[in-house]
Amino acid sequence: MVSEVLAGDPFASYARSVNPQFVRMLRAIGFDRRWARAEGAYLWDADGSRFLDLLGGYGMFNVGRNNPRVREALVEALALETPGSVQLGVNSLSGALADELLKRLPARLGKVLFTNSGTEAVEAAIKLARGATGRPRVLALEHAFHGLTTGSLAAGDSPEFKAPFGPPLPGFDHVPLGDLEALERELRREDVALFIVEPVQGKGVNLPDPGYLPAAQQLCRDYGTLFCADEVQTGLGRTGRFFAFEHEGLEPDMVTIAKSISGGYIPSGALALRTDDLLQVFDSLEHAVLHGSTFAPNDLAMVAGLATLQEIDAEGLVERSRTLGERLLDATRPLVDRYDVVREVRGRGLMWAIEFGEPAAGSRAWRAVERAQRGLFAQFVVVPLFTDHHVLCQVAGHGLNIVKGLPPLTLTAEDVDEFATALDAVLVKAERIPRAAARFGLKLGASSLARH
Ligand code: PMP
Repeated sequence: MVSEVLAGDPFASYARSVNPQFVRMLRAIGFDRRWARAEGAYLWDADGSRFLDLLGGYGMFNVGRNNPRVREALVEALALETPGSVQLGVNSLSGALADELLKRLPARLGKVLFTNSGTEAVEAAIKLARGATGRPRVLALEHAFHGLTTGSLAAGDSPEFKAPFGPPLPGFDHVPLGDLEALERELRREDVALFIVEPVQGKGVNLPDPGYLPAAQQLCRDYGTLFCADEVQTGLGRTGRFFAFEHEGLEPDMVTIAKSISGGYIPSGALALRTDDLLQVFDSLEHAVLHGSTFAPNDLAMVAGLATLQEIDAEGLVERSRTLGERLLDATRPLVDRYDVVREVRGRGLMWAIEFGEPAAGSRAWRAVERAQRGLFAQFVVVPLFTDHHVLCQVAGHGLNIVKGLPPLTLTAEDVDEFATALDAVLVKAERIPRAAARFGLKLGASSLARH
């Protein structure tokens, strides 16, 4: 049955019954491909061309696509026909995965609540922090991203995701990254339940200055606010440590986890928290099931989680992320001097980004394009050019002026070099496009650029 369905035209049915705008966008950037196979850090299209996957499913394939050990564990669980999700009962899988996660977390964290996704882990953090502290407000950083459900959307700072949906939930405020005075001003009111931060901000791969996060954590302790590290994207080796908060020795009160936790196979997530905070909310028999979700601790997600943690250790993926991340930065930082259009290259481990500015003065068409359609350069010039080099990557950042990589941590040194070479070639062409357009007075638009 599966092969038969997969043989159909994906674009026609998706445009007809799911989301036509997404199919239009794929066509515009030349990624309306039929994907035939995936393994590790690679995808193959129906023509048999191999693509390097720097997008990594938005960071859910840390152990590589179709990881054979995780798959084996899932097949074993399916064959056992486990009596899971009894709801009025538990088996040892969720306790075992919680134990494995807690072993990798600071000792102050003693409990794990499972969820189906990253945004649900964030929602759980918001709810449990409010329940545990009895306080109403939530603080987050400017430029943060924490998910797209109503609570996590309010915690994030993405005007483009919020605008169509009316006023955000009340009680959420944002402070600038790096501004401890602004943070303390808010915390001093002693009504803030939770301060939630990404140790490296996913939207722009923004790195905090050293010392900011430890000082912010201390301020939270001083004023009785819970400090949550949102590790949905940065966790499980992504930044070259198991959790990104380890880079500065942080000891958060809450940690959100998702994406790669199930090896990319099953929707899954978790909130790790202090035992006292959990018991403050789950404080009686009456409140034993006060928060949860029908599917959250399902057997397949738990099995995939256990196998994924084993795989990260067995393959040394955390260390691999650190060394390959350094190699990637060494190979791509020189691009800042080589191309006017490159403003900055930054990253930590295999969380990497290149930020574009405006090209050299004199390109009036470019400025017009910038005003008319944010993100045109990264999305409609740079990304399509990568199709020639068979590389997938993501456009991110608030001006959509950043191209970002979150590859599987199974990447090789040769892959890193291949990507750096491709990027160089792409930038040579990308710089020429707006200039050429200015010279010939072309009216730029997404469709005309997509043809280049
Ligand atoms: N928090 C962070 C830091 C994220 O990067 C994301 C997803 N990009 C989320 C939360 C939301 O996770 P999900 O997409 O699984 O809901």
